[in-house]
Amino acid sequence: MRTRSLCRLAAYLWAAPCSLLGLLLALPLLLCGARASRQHGALEIALWPDDQVRRLPFAAITFGHVIIGQNRQLLARLRAHEQVHVRQYQRWGVLLLLAYPAASLWLWLRGKRPYRDNPFEVEARRLGDGQRD
Ligand SMILES: [Zn+2]
Repeated sequence: MRTRSLCRLAAYLWAAPCSLLGLLLALPLLLCGARASRQHGALEIALWPDDQVRRLPFAAITFGHVIIGQNRQLLARLRAHEQVHVRQYQRWGVLLLLAYPAASLWLWLRGKRPYRDNPFEVEARRLGDGQRD
């Protein structure tokens, strides 16, 4: 097995607990009609048809290699951003489930914006969306 393949396998294994959490969250959604597709090494779950958007606190959310989004159009539009979060899970593994909310809490305690200023979101906007803050 080549080194690149081993690194890829290690990244999947390192993020696997988070991906499993995403799959557990997605399973009842899939049973209720959500659609799944594989995109760029991740499993994308679209909750509703493309013409439907609901009032949720998120348009898409990533757990390891599982991305749950409101519909396929939104998932396609947010793909680059969510793929940055996938790579963050590949680097941080299960620690991201602690580091992300800890960073948000720290920012909130310091009077900053817990989502917008979160360094994981800043990185996702910079690399995925091409935005500068
Ligand atoms: Zn994000």
